Amino acid sequence: MPSPRLRFAPSPNGRLHLGHAYSALLNADVARALQGELLLRIEDIDPARCRPELADALVADLAWLGLTFPEPVWRQSARMSTYRAALDDLRRRGLIYPCTCTRRQIQAAAGEARDPDGAPLYPGTCRGRSVPEEPHAWRLDMARALSACPGPFAYTAFAPGEPDAVRAADPARWGDAVLGRKDVPTSYHLAVVLDDAAQGITHVIRGQDLEAATDLHVLLQRLLGLPTPRYHHHGLIRDAGGDKLSKSLRSEALAALRERGVSAGEVRTRLGF
Ligand code: GLU
Repeated sequence: MPSPRLRFAPSPNGRLHLGHAYSALLNADVARALQGELLLRIEDIDPARCRPELADALVADLAWLGLTFPEPVWRQSARMSTYRAALDDLRRRGLIYPCTCTRRQIQAAAGEARDPDGAPLYPGTCRGRSVPEEPHAWRLDMARALSACPGPFAYTAFAPGEPDAVRAADPARWGDAVLGRKDVPTSYHLAVVLDDAAQGITHVIRGQDLEAATDLHVLLQRLLGLPTPRYHHHGLIRDAGGDKLSKSLRSEALAALRERGVSAGEVRTRLGF
């Protein structure tokens, strides 16, 4: 058995809020219980939304909570050549295709079909086309991927204090997902599976909002010959009105709580630690 290794992997596109604090503290608790290691990974692939000063701020917010991490802290923006190499490999195997569709075109062509995130399901307009001159994304050819790598797909779900459970995964519901964006040679899905494997992550703890994405991640791991970690998808921290906290709701930013005089200990208690 490899030694337990976990990661907290925020995106520096806003300040951390209570939901992030919950996820980070749960990762730290489980890492401690397993006598494992917890890494921090900065998921900053989006050049339009991620800012270096927000990455510094999240490290400071986590330190305020009492969480420090082994160095070096990986930044995904520094790993583009690795992501590009994986895309090249998938391209040579005929498993991805270039796509020039705009959001609006996809919306118009998709009809009612939706992916698990609620976005229009890509109808395959560009499937089979040759590489264009203009900027393009790269999409997984789901049908080819599933014939290269037939299911069934499953992963081990763990929860602190509970027996492991096997979860069936259905990657097909994601359709021809984007693996390389127009602006960067990766997408969240590709970068996360490559980095979890490269960093030797054995246990992934993240919010329930990413549970459906795990179905696609399991397929990508099989296609790329990567191990599948164990997963725990925790419930989301909600605001007083019952809505999921998002970074756009600045009121619950850890920095705002700190400025109002709330202590890190009070945050932990409020989150049930
Ligand atoms: N970077 C993602 C986020 O901030 C989390 C990725 C993950 O835990 O897999 O939502």
